[in-house]
Amino acid sequence: MAENEGRHYDLIVVGSGSGATIVDNALYQGMQVAWVDKGPLGGTCLNVGCIPSKILIFPADRVMQIREAEKLGVDAEITGIDFEAIMARMRRMVSQSRNHIREGLHRAPNLDFYEVEGHFLAPEERDRDGHLLEVGGEVISARNVVVASGARPLIPPIQGLDEVPYLTNENVLDLRERPESLTIIGGGYISVEYAHFFSAMGTRVTIMQRNDRLVPDEEPEISELLEKKLSERMDVYSHTEAVEVAQVQDGIRVVGRDRQNDQRREVVTAEVMVAAGRRSNADLLRVENAGIATDERGYIKVNEYLETDVENVWALGDATGRHMFKHVANREASIVWHNFAHDHKVAMDYGAVPHAVFSHPQIASVGMTEAEAAAEHDLLVGEARYLDVAKGQAMMETDGFAKAIVQRGSSQSHGAGKILGFHIIGPHAPILIQEVVNAMADEAPPGAVGRGMHIHPALPEVVVSALYNLREPE
Ligand SMILES: Cc1cc2nc3c(=O)[nH]c(=O)nc-3n(C[C@H](O)[C@H](O)[C@H](O)COP(=O)(O)OP(=O)(O)OC[C@H]3O[C@@H](n4cnc5c(N)ncnc54)[C@H](O)[C@@H]3O)c2cc1C
Repeated sequence: MAENEGRHYDLIVVGSGSGATIVDNALYQGMQVAWVDKGPLGGTCLNVGCIPSKILIFPADRVMQIREAEKLGVDAEITGIDFEAIMARMRRMVSQSRNHIREGLHRAPNLDFYEVEGHFLAPEERDRDGHLLEVGGEVISARNVVVASGARPLIPPIQGLDEVPYLTNENVLDLRERPESLTIIGGGYISVEYAHFFSAMGTRVTIMQRNDRLVPDEEPEISELLEKKLSERMDVYSHTEAVEVAQVQDGIRVVGRDRQNDQRREVVTAEVMVAAGRRSNADLLRVENAGIATDERGYIKVNEYLETDVENVWALGDATGRHMFKHVANREASIVWHNFAHDHKVAMDYGAVPHAVFSHPQIASVGMTEAEAAAEHDLLVGEARYLDVAKGQAMMETDGFAKAIVQRGSSQSHGAGKILGFHIIGPHAPILIQEVVNAMADEAPPGAVGRGMHIHPALPEVVVSALYNLREPE
């Protein structure tokens, strides 16, 4: 046992994002709980993820609505954008929520909060009653540990990058002044969301994406439409790998190499943002000391019950690297709590995991892409354009569409089996997808979505139409 042995708890929770659910439940049950987070309190979503980005994107959406009003006969002009005020509103809202969490810490007598980076101690230092964590020079122990330690930006090894100041999803939120120009390295959802925001604010944006297409996890035709629409507002270099970054007189030079023709692209930019993926925080926690296995990318391995391979240690959320979204982490936290508190275990169901990309146009998806589904199933595919329904026509929404991927069924089920995936690009996509998510969670057939009457004329008719138009895939 280590010399500076501290308190023993019923439960240690690492991570104050979705780990909060576990802490709340445990305190409600009267347990003695240690909560460890190096900060910022509240985790990624609140501080540097979903919440601040969506607070910023809301005014960006308004800007685009105003700019696009002309096609509807509205002659509108934006006479000014107060970037500083937009950023300040975001910071104020985030810090209010963070303060609210902090106030709650003081009201919980059974809770000790350690605002430091914690590390598991090596197995030989583990006492017989549980697992040991070193927290700021003190050693605490518990029989049960929940790891909800999240992830951080992945910084690719680009020559010269460590010698220039660059932005990530974290320090971008500290900006006071709008950058004149910004080059974003990476083309996933964080990149395209911030590209939309900055471009709407008036920044000249360049995206350098190594992959052949933006948001490569989406359907190819969705990536294609997004690239087409974003290219009207900014420079998008797909299949272009950033290979060198250097400070030059006029700013920061980013050199890219086109992976298709080996051509060199050079951009001189005021700011560089790296949005090239995420990496697990499990290394910071030194989970290997406790014998907790990680995969080849460093994410914690868990089984369907979200148990690690070490007894009484669970892991959830971004730390496990599967479907890295807040609603998934929250659901996993409920499952971990259930399995911790009950004898009867429940498996985490990833069958109908939705996600959204709050770019412009917006994107929302659930389940498999056509290519993924085709590898396992006999399929039917249905498509509908926003223009196919009256509301889409009223909006003059000429680009947006929805795509349904359905398992081919028997004649008793009118030829259609269960819904395997659904993908939308266009206005309100994250709202429209929700009824498909609910149907998929119930394993309901496609017809179930249209069974309830749909208000006419309203955009949900696009969803019903896509599921009605099922055909053999081309
Ligand atoms: C820019 C951006 C936008 C996003 N937008 C969305 C969105 O719109 N919708 C959505 O669903 N998801 C979004 N996400 C993803 C979402 O934020 C994450 O999936 C979610 O926050 C993960 O929660 P978590 O509880 O697993 O981890 P986190 O919330 O990251 O919590 C982990 C905590 O553990 C702490 N920690 C880690 N290691 C240690 C250690 N050794 N000692 C002490 N503390 C430690 C960290 O400091 C952190 O506070 C976004 C992410 C980013 C980066």
